[in-house]
Amino acid sequence: MNQNPCRSKFLCLASLFFLAANTASAQQRDPKLTEVYSPVPPVVTSGKTNSDPPSDAIVLFDGKNLDQWESVNDSTKPATWKVADGIITVDKTGGNIRTKQSFLDYQLHIEWRIPENITGSGQARGNSGVFLASTGAGDEGYELQVLDSYNNPTYVNGQAGSIYKQAIPLANACRKPGEWQSYDVIWKAPRFNEDGSLKSPATVTVLQNGVLIQDHYELSGQTLYIGKPFYKAHGASPIKLQAHGDKSEPISYKNIWVRPL
Ligand code: MG
Repeated sequence: MNQNPCRSKFLCLASLFFLAANTASAQQRDPKLTEVYSPVPPVVTSGKTNSDPPSDAIVLFDGKNLDQWESVNDSTKPATWKVADGIITVDKTGGNIRTKQSFLDYQLHIEWRIPENITGSGQARGNSGVFLASTGAGDEGYELQVLDSYNNPTYVNGQAGSIYKQAIPLANACRKPGEWQSYDVIWKAPRFNEDGSLKSPATVTVLQNGVLIQDHYELSGQTLYIGKPFYKAHGASPIKLQAHGDKSEPISYKNIWVRPL
């Protein structure tokens, strides 16, 4: 045989190149290669409306009792807020209440109503709050503000829908006093390293009455009345509702459910 070795090598390389090109082009034409079949998302039956709890939700208040809640001041005592006609009304003398269960990441639905006859102004007009993670007594944690902001100017990073003193809501979606409103929240808890340093910050997305008001906002730490926010290490935490000390008429909550993620 008198075959030129260079020619043979060239033919070999060329055929390899041709094969590779052909395979790549076949891959580009094959839709199956980008179809993913697992894990299969679990089937969850939605409620009749977007406010009804879906089948896998933990119902935190169904209109009947506060069995899922406890007093923050004294966790051996039941929450003292008033339950009547299917709603909870804040008991300002009873202090904050929190869930008995702790959560990390979750989806939360909660409805609230400022009384029609509300008085006061600024921060002293229907002030309450949803602490997305309660990290201690009092107001320690991360507060999603509840306030009458229908026609009630205050500092904008403290109006309804703000992450208190950190994030101004993207819109004022408030309904007028006397009407029910909703928050739908996606909360990702912060994570901490063993030495207590921050591993990843908390993020939050909030819809108020179906309107996006916080868009995957990254928190700088716990929400503080005075001073700049900072993180303190914690794990899974209860959700807390605020009994604010302002003199205005107490607000109400109903239809509260959570889906741990
Ligand atoms: Mg508040």
